Order: sequence, then C-alpha cells, then structure tokens
Amino acid sequence: MAELRNLSEARDLTRIERIGAHSHIRGLGLDAALEARDVSEGMVGQRAARKAAGLILNLIKEGKIAGRAILLAGQPGTGKTAVAMGLAKSLGAETPFASVSASEIFSLEMSKTEALTQAFRKAIGVRIKEEAEIIEGEVVEISIDRPASGASSGQSSSKTGKLTLKTTDMETVYELGGKMIEALRKEKVQSGDVITLDRASGKVTKLGRSITRSRDYDATGPSTKFVRCPEGELQKRKEVVHCVNLHEIDVINSRTQGFLALFTGDTGEIRAEVREQIDSKVSEWKEEGKAEIIPGVLFVDEVHMLDIECFSFLNNALENEMAPILVIATNRGITTIRGTNYRSPHGIPADFLDRLLIITTQPYTEEEIGKILEIRCDEEEVDMSKDAKLLLTKIGVETSLRYAIHLITAAALACQKRKGKTVEMEDVSRVYGLFLDVKRSTQYLMEYQNQYMF
Ligand code: ATP
Repeated sequence: MAELRNLSEARDLTRIERIGAHSHIRGLGLDAALEARDVSEGMVGQRAARKAAGLILNLIKEGKIAGRAILLAGQPGTGKTAVAMGLAKSLGAETPFASVSASEIFSLEMSKTEALTQAFRKAIGVRIKEEAEIIEGEVVEISIDRPASGASSGQSSSKTGKLTLKTTDMETVYELGGKMIEALRKEKVQSGDVITLDRASGKVTKLGRSITRSRDYDATGPSTKFVRCPEGELQKRKEVVHCVNLHEIDVINSRTQGFLALFTGDTGEIRAEVREQIDSKVSEWKEEGKAEIIPGVLFVDEVHMLDIECFSFLNNALENEMAPILVIATNRGITTIRGTNYRSPHGIPADFLDRLLIITTQPYTEEEIGKILEIRCDEEEVDMSKDAKLLLTKIGVETSLRYAIHLITAAALACQKRKGKTVEMEDVSRVYGLFLDVKRSTQYLMEYQNQYMF
C-alpha cells in the first residue's frame, strides 16, 4: 500500500503537459444535449464523430459499455486520434486512458500478447481507499517550543522548533517537526480553525472555522466551548483515495522490475503468477470494500498493423469482466489482414469487425482547416499574420492538415532567424520550399527515380 501511495503521488508530480500534436484538445466540446459546438475545447468540426464519441462517453460513465470496441475510421489527418484524445480528456483524471500504436506491439523485448496484456492492464484502474494518517479536528492550541540556544528573537527558529498541536477530535497533543511548522505558518493556522494535517506529506488543509465559539463558565473556571464542523464533513476527508492501474501494481510487485521501471518504461515481461496473485488480491480488496475497479479506455492507433493472432487475443480479452473499452483507429480501406492472405475492410477479421461500433471521420473544409491551424498557432504561441494564416490554410487544403501544422513551428523558426516577431507569408513560403509534402515528394521521386536504388 505504501508503494502505491508513493506512486500515485509521484505521478501527480510528474504529470507535465508538453506541447504535443494533440495538446490543444481539452475535451469533445459538446453541449449538455451532446451536440458538438462549432469550436470548443480545442475541437473544430467533425460534429457527427464528436457526438457519437459523446454518446459513448456517457455509456462509459454509466458503466454500461464495458468490453466493447469502437472503431474510428477515416482518411489520414481527419482527427481520429484527436477524437480519441477528446474522449480521454472528458473522462476525467480518474478513468485510466492508455494509448498505443499497433506497431509498438511488435518488439524484440516481449511477445506481442505480453505487450497487449500490458496495454490492457494500463487501461484498468484500481481506486484504493485507505484510512489516512491524518490528524483532523479543530485546533485548540498551537505552541512552538523553541530550543534555548540560537532563538534570539521570536521569529527566528520556525525551522527547528517543536510544535505542539492540540485538536478537539482526539484531545491529543502532537509533536511535529519543522516541515509541519512551516506548513501551518504558511496556511496561517490559528486556534479555532478546523484543519486536516497529513503527516506523511506534510500537507495542511484548512476546512474552515468552527461554527461558533463561546466562553463557558462553570465551577472549575473559564473554558472554551467549541461547536465543531458537522461530523459527516470531517469523516469524508479521512479517507484517502489512490488511483493506480493494474499494470502499475504488476510492475511494483514483479521481483525483477520494481517501482522505477514504471518511469523508465523498461518493464520487460511480467510473469503470469504475479498477475494471478495481483488479480486475486485486488478482488479481495474489492470484496472488503477497500478497492473499486474502474475499466478505462485503451486506444490502439493504426490497428491494421495488428496481425490475426493479436485480433484473436483482443477478441478474448474483451470477454473479461474487467475489460476496458477498446477504441481502435485506422486510415486503411480494404486491405490484407496481417498474417493471412485474406483481404477485409480495414484489415480487420470479420468476427472482430462484428463487435465494433464504427465512427467515421470526414475530410475537413477549408474553413475548418483554417480554424484548426489558428488553434495550433495559439497552442504553440506563434504570432502569425492574417495573410500568412490564409496561405498556410491553402497549403493545408492542397497538401494535408498535418503537413500544414508542421509548417507552423518551421515558419516560426524562419521568422526568428530574420529577427521578426510575427510570422509573415514569406516565412511560410520559405519553409514550404524547404520541406516537401507527400505530393511533391512523390513527384520528385518519379522524376528522379532512376537515380535511386531499387
Ligand atoms: P492518421 O490516420 O494519419 O493517424 P488522424 O485521423 O488520427 O490521422 P489526427 O492525428 O487526429 O488525425 O489529426 C492531425 C492533427 O490535426 C492533429 O494535430 C490533431 O490534433 C489535429 N486535429 C484533427 N482534427 C481536429 C479537430 N477536429 N479539431 C482540432 N484539431 C484537430
């Protein structure tokens, strides 16, 4: 349990958002009636696909769609990955989302079924409830004992003093070190405040002031009477919840790997016995009410790269009661199923196709391409003139959206080189000349093919 706690805390710290291809997407951009707003949460157009994804999102949230698979099919650059990302973002941080490209399944380090199993287990969350070592209640008294030496003035020794904190909940006196004193100081905690205090992390949270506070006089002299926060409110916060996924638990418990392997990604194969033990432990926790299983979403991009064996693995894995929702994407039409001589729609075997709900994405209009490019300029903090944006949009229409998106950074660098502040048409045309798109590259190859090796 302690390791799981460390893990979920470390992960919170390392969750740094990079500017990636889809970092501008913050959700599906739907309204309450699940209609797609024109431009919202970084999403533009593709309304039918977004609406369909929204319906699926609701089914996932209501727990009604475990073990199903959704196929996003459409031409390259029509936003299949973007829609999957939007879905993931709308699920919230607690629902696990794992994403792999089908080609990553084939590696020398592990078998393809092991790679798929790891991907599946990354998409199954475990919410573990734990009684926390939290001191909770109303602060009755705070006193700081300063060591005799070195404490020349009242303010100097906050780091070395010993703090005595008395709270009403257990009438206990806690002696806390310097880190805690700093935290209490920072939060300006004083008597009468109701606080929680996590000794492990040093976190202090102020829940508020006690509702009333009055002085009572009785035979023994003056005493302070407190009316505390409603019990329920305090009780709620006593429970600390850690969210991890099954793969993380596997790695932590696998003797050959260990905690750090999760950060390097170098987890290797995990023995079947380890997984069996973990599954039975997790079901034990579940029965005792200590844990909850959250089937998340596994996104497999370029799914036509999977072979027939992978598809039969997926068919089986989806039958498992803990199975996540599988979202797959492909830009292929009728093509050969890898590992066979048969052709089928999207390179997917007929029995697997039968399981799928299919969402299609459509090519973008010029206006939509312009809007997506505009959003990407904002995301990459590139200041671009109106004319340059229009030119880039034209390029996007003629070549591809992805190519035009790539030119944004390149054009910004060209602009920087000439010490400009705003990217102008000349920067866009310069990089357009420097980097070929697919059409021009193919044309070039046709013209000069006899100079290349066969
Ligand atoms: P491929 O078939 O080549 O994998 P794809 O259909 O998955 O392509 P994406 O990678 O999603 O296409 O789209 C290309 C780029 O355009 C990405 O940066 C993506 O975030 C952005 N994009 C695509 N569609 C939209 C949209 N509707 N709104 C905002 N951004 C989008």
